[in-house]
Amino acid sequence: MKSAKTVLITAGPTREYLDPVRFISNESSGTVGYELAREARRLGHRVILVLGPTQLPAIAGVETIKVQSAVDMLKALQSKIKGADVLFMSAAVADFTPVQKSLQKIKRGERTEMIVRLKANPDILKTLGDPKVKKNKVYVGFCIETQNLIANATKKLLGKNLDYIVATLLESRKSPFGANAFSPTILNKNGDALVLEAENKRNFARKMFKLLKQEKRI
Ligand code: C5P
Repeated sequence: MKSAKTVLITAGPTREYLDPVRFISNESSGTVGYELAREARRLGHRVILVLGPTQLPAIAGVETIKVQSAVDMLKALQSKIKGADVLFMSAAVADFTPVQKSLQKIKRGERTEMIVRLKANPDILKTLGDPKVKKNKVYVGFCIETQNLIANATKKLLGKNLDYIVATLLESRKSPFGANAFSPTILNKNGDALVLEAENKRNFARKMFKLLKQEKRI
């Protein structure tokens, strides 16, 4: 295929371990990134999937790099970003990680409460948004918000130097997680919005690639 691109996609949560069996994580099945990877492959692109811990089976023809923590994810992306044309950052990255990871399982003992000290993880998109790294690559970020969807999403779009952001409002009656349909709004830097209603994630992936093609970004 003449216009084949290299598409780098992250999916799933990250895990930030406190000890060998306990971790802090985010709600995420990885489905959105997974469907983007399938669609990119269907369209004939070279696809690299950087995948946090999920139940998803491998996709034939997709190079998959499995990671656990946000720092692992950043390292995997740093090793692959140079050759990429498009980055979909659909992973639900944990914002914080324990300051210390115990090598042994932490015992409850006689404690009635426990304080865990956390430190901020690197912002992966911001790190890769360095103009020397980004150049003319297309970056697509994702966000879930509980309020002020467009204002919060626009702030992330601009603050993280993205080309697009896919923003979803978390509503109490309709979970967007897992195999469920979701209602994302795709915003570009010009402020154009494509609003999708109760879309299944496979159709979302098709429409996302169609939009990139229409806007001559892929
Ligand atoms: O967590 P937040 O809503 O700010 O995430 C928005 C986007 O930033 C997502 O695409 C997510 O993958 C990315 N992100 C990141 N590094 C982080 C946290 C989030 O790249 N530490």
